[in-house]
Amino acid sequence: MSEMNVPEVFGSNVFNEKVMKERLPKETYKALKQTIEKGLPLRPEVAAIVANAMKDWALERGATHYTHWFQPLTGSTAEKHDSFISPTDDGGVIMEFSGKQLIQGEPDASSFPSGGLRATFEARGYTAWDATSPAFLKEDASGDVTLCIPTAFCSYNGEALDKKTPLLRSMKAVSDQALRVLRAMGDTTATRVISTVGPEQEYFLVDLEYYQERLDLIACGRTLFGAPGPKGQELEDQYFGPIKDRVADYMKDLDLELWKMGISSKTKHNEVAPAQYEMAPVFSTTNISADHNQLVMETMQKVALRHDMFCLLHEKPYAGINGSGKHNNWSLSTDTGLNLLEPGHTPHDNAQFLVFICALLKAVDTHADIMRATCASSGNDHRLGANEAPPAIISVFLGDELADIFIKIAAGQKNTAKEKAFVKIGVDTLPDLPKDNTDRNRTSPFAFTGNKFEFRMVGSSQSVSGPNVALNTIVAEALDQIARRLEKAKDVNKEIVALIKDTMKDHGRIIFNGNNYSEEWAKEAKKRGLPNVRNSVDALKAFVTPKAMELFSKYGVLSKEELHSRYDIYVEQYSKHINIEAQTAIQMVKRQYLPAVMRYMEELGSSAAASGEYGEVQKAILAEVGALLKSAYKNLKTLEAATKEAQGIWNVEKQAKSYRDKVFTACTALRGDIDALEALLPRDIWPVPVYSDLLFKL
Ligand code: ADP
Ligand code: MG
Repeated sequence: MSEMNVPEVFGSNVFNEKVMKERLPKETYKALKQTIEKGLPLRPEVAAIVANAMKDWALERGATHYTHWFQPLTGSTAEKHDSFISPTDDGGVIMEFSGKQLIQGEPDASSFPSGGLRATFEARGYTAWDATSPAFLKEDASGDVTLCIPTAFCSYNGEALDKKTPLLRSMKAVSDQALRVLRAMGDTTATRVISTVGPEQEYFLVDLEYYQERLDLIACGRTLFGAPGPKGQELEDQYFGPIKDRVADYMKDLDLELWKMGISSKTKHNEVAPAQYEMAPVFSTTNISADHNQLVMETMQKVALRHDMFCLLHEKPYAGINGSGKHNNWSLSTDTGLNLLEPGHTPHDNAQFLVFICALLKAVDTHADIMRATCASSGNDHRLGANEAPPAIISVFLGDELADIFIKIAAGQKNTAKEKAFVKIGVDTLPDLPKDNTDRNRTSPFAFTGNKFEFRMVGSSQSVSGPNVALNTIVAEALDQIARRLEKAKDVNKEIVALIKDTMKDHGRIIFNGNNYSEEWAKEAKKRGLPNVRNSVDALKAFVTPKAMELFSKYGVLSKEELHSRYDIYVEQYSKHINIEAQTAIQMVKRQYLPAVMRYMEELGSSAAASGEYGEVQKAILAEVGALLKSAYKNLKTLEAATKEAQGIWNVEKQAKSYRDKVFTACTALRGDIDALEALLPRDIWPVPVYSDLLFKL
C-alpha cells in the first residue's frame, strides 16, 4: 500500500495563505489579506499581480483553463471553462490571466433560473470573486486541471442570482449586530464576528450496475418503486459498523480528493440505513463551508463512479429505511477566537453566552416558518413531516441543565446552596454543561450541542447556503433588538436578567427537550402555537410574507424582488421534480413492470392449462396477479391524467398544489400495486434490481 503524506497532500490544490505568502510580493499579499479579512475592495493593480501569480501557480500544476465557479439557484454549481491562451502576432499563443478576468466574469446567464429578476434579453450576468474563499484546482480523472475562482453571481442591476451573494450579506449582517451586543457588554477587542458551519453529509452508495438498471434512480435519484426486502435496518447493525473494503477504498479516495482541495474531511462512518454513510468535515467560515459542501457532494459522486458505484445524495432514496440529511452545525465566533456559543469560565463570558442563547431562542421562535422554508424540497418532504428525523415542527433543544438555568433565572428564584443551576448574572460562573454525545437529543430539529447549534432539517442534497442565510439573518435581527436594550441600560447585568425573563415569557415555548417524534409532542406543539408545516408547497410561502420581506430587506440580505424570485424558482422546482417522478413512474410501469406481469400471467395460464386438475394453484395466483394488474392499470391512467392536468396549469402555486395533491398521491397509489406485484412475481421475471440488490450487494 502506498503511503500518503497527508500534511503534504492537504490543500495542495489550493491557492491558500501559504502559497500567497510564497508567491506574492509583500505589499500585494498584505493588500489581499486586507480584502480577505476586512472586506476592503481589491485595487485593480493588486488584482493584476494576484491574477498573474495564480495563473503561474495553476500552469505549473498542469492547468490550461480557468473558471468562475458559482452557485446558481438550481442548488448545484456552474462553471464555464476559459483557456488562458491569448493569440500572439506570430501565430502562437501566450498564457494570460488578467486582474479583470480574476475579479469579474460575464457569463451568459439566460439559461439559469432568475425567477423573473432578469429578462432573457438581458442575458448578461456578472460573476465576482469572493476573495474570502480561496481559489483552487479541480482535477479530472483524465488529468484535466482547471483553476476555479469561487464567485458570486448577480444580474446587471446587482440582484443576487445565486446562493453565495445573500450568504455573504447575511454574514455581514450577523457580524454587525453581534458586535453591537459585544460592545454593549464591554468587549472592545473584537472587530468581526464570524458565523461558522460544519455540515455533516449523509449519502448512500449503490453498485453502478444495479443503478443503471433503475430508471427511477437515474432520473429521480430515488426509487419510485420497490417492495421491502426481508431485511432493512431493524437489526441496527449498520450504524458505526465495520466499513466494507470496497466502501473503505472509496472513502479513502474521497478523502484524498477532498484533502487536496483543502477540505478538512475529518470523520467517516456507516450510517443507520444499509448502504448509508456519513462524512463530516472540520467546521469553517460559513461561506467556505458552503463552497466546500458543494465540492463534497460533487466529489462524492465523481469518486463513486471510479469505484463502479453511484453516490445517491437524495433525501429519501429508499422507502422504509432512513433518509439522508445534512446536520448543519452552526455557531458564532469573534475574530479574537472566542466561540460565542460556548459557556465561558468567567461570569462575564457566561453572561455573554446567555445573551446569545436568548438571541437564538428569540430568532428561531419568531422565524420558525422561515427556517422550515429553507429546507423545503420535494425530496426533503419525505423526511420532514413523514414520521422521520426530524419532524416538521421547529423547536429548540437546550438540554435540561441549560434549560433549567433559563427557567430559574426567569422565575427569579433565589440561589440556595444546593441549587448550583441558579446563576447570578455577572457574578457567578455557569455550572458545567454536559457536552458528551451520549445524552444528546437526536430527535430535535435544532439542538444545542455544547458549543454550537445543530440544525438537522437540512436535506442531504441541498446547498447549505439557504439555511445559513436564514440563521444568520434571523439571529442578526434578534441581536439588533437585544443590542438596543443593552445599549440603553444603566445596569447591563440587570438588563440581562430582564432580557432572559422576557425571552422565556415570549419565546420559551420554542424550547423542547423531549422526544420530538412522539405524538404527544405534535399535540403539545399545537397547543403552544408552533407551526407544523408538512409539505414544501406550504412551507415555501414563508419566503414571501410581509414579516420575511421586512426582515431580509432590513438587513440588506435579500430584497423583496429577490425573495419573490426565490419563491417562484423553488415552487417551480418542486413541480418539476414531481413531474419528472411521474413521467418516470409512467414509463417504468408501461415499459417494464406491466409487460413483465403479463408475461408471468401468460406463463401461469399455460401452466394451468397443462396441469389439468393441478392447475388450481396457478389459477389462484393468476387471479391475485390479475387483480393487481387491473388496479395498477387504473392507477396508471389516473396518474397520466393527473400529470397532464398539472402540466397545463400556468399559475406556479396552483400547479405545485396540483402536483402535490393529485400527481404525487397518484404515484403513491400506483407504487402500492407495483410493490405488491413485486412480492408475487418470480425474481427472474421481475425486470429491475430489487431492494436487497440495491442495499446489500455492495
Ligand atoms: P457529532 O457528534 O454530531 O458528529 P461533532 O462534535 O463531531 O459532533 O461535530 C460535528 C460537526 O460540528 C463537525 O463538522 C464539527 O467541525 C462541527 N463544529 C464543531 N464546532 C463548531 C463550531 N463552533 N461552529 C460550527 N461547527 C462546529
Ligand atoms: Mg450530528
